[in-house]
Amino acid sequence: MGARQLVVRLLRYTPHPENAVAASAHLCYSPAGVHEIEGHLTPERREDLIALLLRSGHHTPLEHAVFTFGVEGISRACLAQLTRHRIASFSVQSQRWVGKSSTGSPDGVFDYIVPPRVVELGPEYVAEFERQMRQIQEWYDFWYRALGANREAREDARFVLPNAAETKLVVTMNARELHHFFSLRCCNRAQWEIRNLAEAMLRLVKEVAPALFRTAGPRCLRGPCPEGKLGCGKAAEVRARYGVDAGDG
Ligand SMILES: Cc1cc2nc3c(=O)[nH]c(=O)nc-3n(C[C@H](O)[C@H](O)[C@H](O)COP(=O)(O)OP(=O)(O)OC[C@H]3O[C@@H](n4cnc5c(N)ncnc54)[C@H](O)[C@@H]3O)c2cc1C
Repeated sequence: MGARQLVVRLLRYTPHPENAVAASAHLCYSPAGVHEIEGHLTPERREDLIALLLRSGHHTPLEHAVFTFGVEGISRACLAQLTRHRIASFSVQSQRWVGKSSTGSPDGVFDYIVPPRVVELGPEYVAEFERQMRQIQEWYDFWYRALGANREAREDARFVLPNAAETKLVVTMNARELHHFFSLRCCNRAQWEIRNLAEAMLRLVKEVAPALFRTAGPRCLRGPCPEGKLGCGKAAEVRARYGVDAGDG
């Protein structure tokens, strides 16, 4: 068992995602037939169409571009937040079926995430956090053995595992859902772990579809902070970080 760090990979995505979106929009706004829509878009027209969709709120064509990510090194706490996004598809490593950690440790050993604020307190606090994780492992081992040391035992022994327990998953979202996800989870008000995940995902999709995700990110990039008095008060800083001109809010 041990501490794990976030790993995010873009595993696959719709080929030519910006074409897929722009061609669908082109069909909506022109007399073109389906055999004409793919080949007739210049890069400029493609970008204009995508910008129009994002500006106007005509977001359904964004659903034709789909992105699949592999994620490791997030906590079960973060998983609970991530899976609230109902338009996404998830495959999560099972605590019922998978008894070994990725480090090849004995059955039931779990890896975990150490919150950065614990790390900031200093090495003695990290050591205490790790001691508590080992203590939980002992509780898990007790129940695993008491319940028969088989798959059913694993199902019930896991009830004592912490929110810090690491998980791995594959998640697929279309570009429309990703925009929504980034607007909520790249926000400073989101918890650090899902924000780190969202920012890593945004960096990856921007590499393969820059026009599609140029305006993606927290809502303060596009207008006043919707959190009002509960906002972080750092909209200008956030905009600078995303390379967006300062505006109101
Ligand atoms: C800062 C913050 C604090 C939060 N605090 C809490 C909390 O205290 N307690 C808590 O339980 N959750 C909390 N959440 C989670 C939040 O309530 C949502 O579950 C989560 O953000 C997913 O958002 P969503 O439903 O918009 O997204 P998705 O499920 O991805 O849905 C995307 C969009 O599809 C549409 N949609 C999806 N399903 C339906 C439906 N059934 N009916 C109509 N439209 C639908 C909506 O327009 C929705 O915005 C918090 C989230 C944030 C960002």
